[in-house]
Amino acid sequence: MRSLVCPFVARGTEAGSAGKRELGRGERILPGVFRLRLPLPWPGVPHCNAWAISAGDGFVLFDTGMHQPGSMDQLQWALASCRLRIEDVKLIVCTHAHSDHCGQAPAIKELTGCELWMHPKHTLITNTFTDPEAELARRLEIARQSGVPEEPLRQWAAQRQESQPGISGPIEPDRDLVPGVTVQTDLGEWTVHETPGHDPCHVCLFQAEQRVLISGDHLLGRISLFFDYGHSPDPVGEYLDSLDVVQALRARLCLAGHGRTFTDVQPHIDGSRALVRERLEKVRQAVSERPLTAVEALPSVSEGRLGAAEVPRLLMETLAMLTHLEAIGAVERTAAGAEQAERQLWVAR
Ligand SMILES: [Zn+2]
Ligand SMILES: [Zn+2]
Repeated sequence: MRSLVCPFVARGTEAGSAGKRELGRGERILPGVFRLRLPLPWPGVPHCNAWAISAGDGFVLFDTGMHQPGSMDQLQWALASCRLRIEDVKLIVCTHAHSDHCGQAPAIKELTGCELWMHPKHTLITNTFTDPEAELARRLEIARQSGVPEEPLRQWAAQRQESQPGISGPIEPDRDLVPGVTVQTDLGEWTVHETPGHDPCHVCLFQAEQRVLISGDHLLGRISLFFDYGHSPDPVGEYLDSLDVVQALRARLCLAGHGRTFTDVQPHIDGSRALVRERLEKVRQAVSERPLTAVEALPSVSEGRLGAAEVPRLLMETLAMLTHLEAIGAVERTAAGAEQAERQLWVAR
């Protein structure tokens, strides 16, 4: 099975031997609001955040961290540093279906008997757990059509087959996390806002009186892009629409899925939008010079970062950009010559 990761920044190889592992730890952000900083096995993305927010005699856990050896201990250390106990989780709410955000949910449910709430489109991602071979074959086909040569593709497939899922069991939410549903905490009521793009089931949660946003991976302290390509028709278009959704909330504090909290929310929205537009224009320009495969167009989004470990993420971003340009009528795809009929070329319109 493969790991459902969101490598939104530079990734190296999956960890293990090299590098110092982070330890789980927690900090109070506001009265009754705690950041749980949980380690990840990816050198470029050393940790993710879960958020514990007091609710009556326990707390709601927003996101869970990834499941890996020792991860429940890490979570419990982080909770203990905030004087919280895993037994007091009343509800798990996950922003999206990547393993670093929902991977421990099944184990915590098992331990506490609490409910898990997620957006119903999580199945677009989590169904790939049940048939990892078919998912790998689908990804390989996309890569071949994109012009990835056979040998690196073979190596990548072998690596993915060895990788761990990062999920502690089947993801089986008890309630659909959709607009209209509210989450009650001592800080107040949180509303649900659909923000697809990063992945198709992404939601943000908003506490209107305090104007606090739990943003998952939709908005991060460091402006960066990641698109889980292949699960919806136009992830970039969805992401741009989702930035509008979040902008309308006028949040003044953002609790993001990775990194520190931040208060300059609007500049982060503006910066994300500008980065998308910049990348779209670079890809469009590259394709307008001559027909290209997605792999040939990939340097347009790489900003010189072309380590082997980054290519899969960059290829997904390139395909997402090309697909959006296709959706707005700026480019179209065509099959390469007969001898290379499996490859798709992208051309300007
Ligand atoms: Zn993440
Ligand atoms: Zn993610």
